[in-house]
Amino acid sequence: MSLLVVGSVAFDAIETPFGKTDKIIGGAATYISLAASYFRKPVNLVAVVGDDFPAADIRTMQEHGVNTDGLQIKAGEKSFFWSGRYHNDLNSRDTLVTELNVLANFDPVIPDSYQNCDYLMLGNLTPDVQRTVIQRLKRRPKLIVMDTMNFWMDIALDSLKETIKLVDVLTINDEEARQLSGEYSLVKAARKIMGMGPKYLVIKKGEHGALLFHNDQVFYAPALPLEEVFDPTGAGDSFAGGFIGYLARTGDLSFENMKNAVIIGSTMASFCVEAFGPERLLKIDQKAISNRSQAFLNLTACDLTLV
Ligand code: AMP
Repeated sequence: MSLLVVGSVAFDAIETPFGKTDKIIGGAATYISLAASYFRKPVNLVAVVGDDFPAADIRTMQEHGVNTDGLQIKAGEKSFFWSGRYHNDLNSRDTLVTELNVLANFDPVIPDSYQNCDYLMLGNLTPDVQRTVIQRLKRRPKLIVMDTMNFWMDIALDSLKETIKLVDVLTINDEEARQLSGEYSLVKAARKIMGMGPKYLVIKKGEHGALLFHNDQVFYAPALPLEEVFDPTGAGDSFAGGFIGYLARTGDLSFENMKNAVIIGSTMASFCVEAFGPERLLKIDQKAISNRSQAFLNLTACDLTLV
């Protein structure tokens, strides 16, 4: 089942209590594509970078099964740049800089070979562009998953709501769910957000796991307690990549299988945070993924007999 991923491909500069990076490779679509590539190849990428983006990093993505025919490289322009500083608990962060650069006028072109995709992942990006991608597909995919962030809620709320109407699954974090809905209770927030269009909502809670909502059903996956967390950047995107990659591989869109996809998404996020940038996602294998997914299952498995 073919998979199309759209989103930022970027330079990031990250500060955590453990250290600071200069400009490293990041971007929502980078993390999503790498995480999804462990489940479904090729990952058809639509994105834009400037000619400052290293060719070697594009090659690395290609080696991981990412098809970059839809990656535009703009001569004389700069790639999107984001910089963030994490607080001591690593669960919250401040955005220090967002320089849209090439993203400001991004006109997404969908190569013919990407048409008829079954699974569409709209990674974090200008909501107008996310919507344009849906409109430029000749056939509606079986499943459209969308991720976004508070930045777009602050500056493009109306456009964001237009795009949210068109998608099947929305993934956001708890703070963003509260901001978007105006509700503190996540249960009330979920109901309101599902009323805006998506049939499914994933609320990511960082080191406290993730919630999947559908109608009146809720599923919860914890986050794995890890000994070392270096850099949470891209955890949400790695979650999304694992989630949609697994669904694209299995082709089963039942709520039961979405639960499995949440466990796989959480597994990929747990790898991502173990190193700065996407580094860790480049160095895992199927065995590591299955061992860690099993660790997730073990985390809440018990033999309770109700009395
Ligand atoms: P996450 O930690 O999963 O929320 O995603 C972090 C990634 O999102 C970083 O690699 C950034 O380059 C990218 N990012 C940050 N802000 C934006 C934005 N406004 N639009 C698109 N991508 C962004």
